[in-house]
Amino acid sequence: MYDLNVVIIGAGIGGLSTGIALRQAGYRVKVFERTRELRPAGAGISLWSNGVKVLNALGLGEELAALGGQMDWMEYLTHQGELLNSIDLQPLIQQVGQRPYPVSRTDLQQMLRDAFGPEDLELGVKCVGVEEREGEAIAHLDDGRAVAADLIIGADGVHSTVRDYVVGKPVAPRYADYVNWNGLVPFSDDLPSGNSWVIYVGENKRASMMPVGGDRFYFFFGAPMAQGTTVAPADRREELATLFQGWAEPVQNLIKHLNPLETNRLEIGDLDPLDRLVRGRIALLGDAGHATTPTLGQGACQALEDAVILTRYLVTTTISVSDALQRYENARKQRTADLVLKARKRTGTIYGKDPAATESWYQQLSQEVPSDVTGAIADIILTGPLG
Ligand SMILES: Cc1cc2nc3c(=O)[nH]c(=O)nc-3n(C[C@H](O)[C@H](O)[C@H](O)COP(=O)(O)OP(=O)(O)OC[C@H]3O[C@@H](n4cnc5c(N)ncnc54)[C@H](O)[C@@H]3O)c2cc1C
Repeated sequence: MYDLNVVIIGAGIGGLSTGIALRQAGYRVKVFERTRELRPAGAGISLWSNGVKVLNALGLGEELAALGGQMDWMEYLTHQGELLNSIDLQPLIQQVGQRPYPVSRTDLQQMLRDAFGPEDLELGVKCVGVEEREGEAIAHLDDGRAVAADLIIGADGVHSTVRDYVVGKPVAPRYADYVNWNGLVPFSDDLPSGNSWVIYVGENKRASMMPVGGDRFYFFFGAPMAQGTTVAPADRREELATLFQGWAEPVQNLIKHLNPLETNRLEIGDLDPLDRLVRGRIALLGDAGHATTPTLGQGACQALEDAVILTRYLVTTTISVSDALQRYENARKQRTADLVLKARKRTGTIYGKDPAATESWYQQLSQEVPSDVTGAIADIILTGPLG
């Protein structure tokens, strides 16, 4: 398709990466973002090699590598600190052809924002609805404007407004029955070594540290919890100290080092797979279409895959915009649904949905062959659109 006018709703990882890809393809792109400042929901993120490959394709690989942590090993330990398994990630890198990069979200978001540039990004503007009229897609904004485009991409996250139009009804996310706390801490002698992703598991909970650039760990804790609990930021260290009482010394040191005021506390949810990602000239992308629990580390990676595939069909086919978008849906619906359901299953195992299954997973971890673990990760990566 030639000479398209595209409106993207949402300037998260999905919206900005798609904006960059479409711009590189020669299209005119406008992004509308409701917040005045881009504030990512979470401190860090692990971009597995399928996500990194997309950023490489967009010309951002070198920059990303400079922001990323050196994650050479993945280690599982019991909550009391006994090593269950130590997995060398080098075979994975060799198999898939690209190192994964854990990064600070602020760094990643800033990199994407700089690459997209300020001219076509409007902050502080909320989309309140979309429609199609006379061969155009129209975004209604909360400042009263109605912006017409050849197509609209709803990259407006798990609570998407655009999704209401595409699906034909509001769809609420489903609570995954656990809370996630996350933040950044500097490397320190009393924490694990800076080239390992360590995961402590026990009591249906987990505590983890993953190296990101700037000699810092992205840490996260997860614990099952009823929906609707809130704890003030100032009290989050105490909350974690109570929940993870008796856990290994590095976990206690982490709780001591973290800044409770900068520790995010999130109830995690996902979306049941949708029947459609596209209606006419309007498409959903990223979490708006397939929000997932983060237990496979694939949410943002799937948004990045969406970005290349959507762009590819617009560039390579010429029947119509809605035809190209339908091809995008055909290519993405099953893959993203499979990963959402796989992550949901893994979430149940990690957080004790069936405590006996979680207990047997702990036993299994010590016997797992490293090549099986890296093979399973490689499978997710290699079945993606960039191989
Ligand atoms: C704790 C946690 C850990 C995670 N870890 C990983 C990981 O390790 N690896 C990984 O790949 N993924 C991970 N994810 C998933 C990842 O964060 C998401 O999949 C990804 O951020 C989705 O990007 P997005 O652009 O689709 O949506 P979002 O990042 O949610 O962006 C949507 C944007 O749209 C804006 N917006 C919303 N509504 C409107 C509107 N009406 N008008 C205008 N703007 C609007 C929002 O303000 C926001 O900026 C994790 C998620 C969580 C919660």
